[in-house]
Amino acid sequence: MPAIWDLPDFDSHEAVYAFDDRATGLKAIIAVHSTHLGPAAGGTRFWHYAEPQAAVTDALRLSRGMSYKNAMAGLSAGGGKAVILANPARTKPQDMLDAFARAVDSLGGKYITAQDVGMSEGDMVSLSKVTSHVAGLPGHGGDPGPYTARGVFLGVQAAAKHALGTDDMLGVHVAIQGVGSVGGGLARYLADHGAKLTLADVDAQRAADLAVELGGNSVAATEIMNVEADIFSPCALGAILTEASVSALKVRAVAGGANNQLATGHEGRMLADRSILYAPDYVVNAGGIINVLRHIENADDAEINRRINAIPERLAAIWAESDLGGKTPAEVADNMAQKLIGR
Ligand code: NAD
Repeated sequence: MPAIWDLPDFDSHEAVYAFDDRATGLKAIIAVHSTHLGPAAGGTRFWHYAEPQAAVTDALRLSRGMSYKNAMAGLSAGGGKAVILANPARTKPQDMLDAFARAVDSLGGKYITAQDVGMSEGDMVSLSKVTSHVAGLPGHGGDPGPYTARGVFLGVQAAAKHALGTDDMLGVHVAIQGVGSVGGGLARYLADHGAKLTLADVDAQRAADLAVELGGNSVAATEIMNVEADIFSPCALGAILTEASVSALKVRAVAGGANNQLATGHEGRMLADRSILYAPDYVVNAGGIINVLRHIENADDAEINRRINAIPERLAAIWAESDLGGKTPAEVADNMAQKLIGR
């Protein structure tokens, strides 16, 4: 097995901490990719991994992603991520959560945590009783979903402007994969603006009910990437843009809220070769973190809105550079983010 520095996802992390609290059974990793712009900020994921190595890889990838996302959102925050390795029973005893909070606290503010997959708002409140380095608590940023959804709507509109020549969404056909917090919110914004919707969710009833409510159609989750539409908006899982799925797409643009949409990274080039515009995911889906980290810069609601409203300009700058220089939008965004974090 390679040394940690040689792992493909290590990418010069500033620090990677492994915690093992025998008394409580806590096993956790906190990855700090960059503190160049401020404290490393990113959520805590509670997940059962088949292999511990997969947890390390996940933490490294997610933490680098947060560096890029926070930098491109113009936040005074670096990137980090924590992963708690769940036991097979996936229980989260209080003493284990307390031990994790002490681990976060031991970094003295170098890492600020927030909610992610497997962690509830209640868990965050519980951590905050032990450490002050918790963001997005109820009443202080809370649920990021609605903010992310608004940013994704603006991103989809920007993609329509660039790929279709109009940001009037009336009649623009958007196929949305996953209609949970982000995709459902996006669908409502789009319906308000007269877009034509095709929705899909593994919870087929959820997609069907929302389609009836908003006057759109729903299709099976397995069909959504084959739908002929103007824009495909991935708002469920990551890694859905694969060689096979990209070659089957029948859209002019891909813009959505899901994290890490490109399965290997090469799909960005495949999209460009097929003249399908790609909106880099971490630029589009930054609305939630912009709100969650409001306390870092004492941002009020107006400032949060201003920052979310800047998402289309950022995308336009990425696409303009991509059109000029031949790099894909994903490559341009990564280069811009790397410059911002001094890499
Ligand atoms: P969510 O759990 O509220 O909704 C996800 C929805 O996708 C669910 O309805 C689920 O049934 C559905 N789904 C799962 N697999 C699917 C599949 N294969 N095909 C179709 N539907 C599927 O989650 P969310 O908060 O809306 O997040 C959606 C995505 O956006 C995730 O990738 C998440 O990492 C990303 N994201 C969310 C936020 C946020 O603020 N919530 C911020 C940034 C990024």
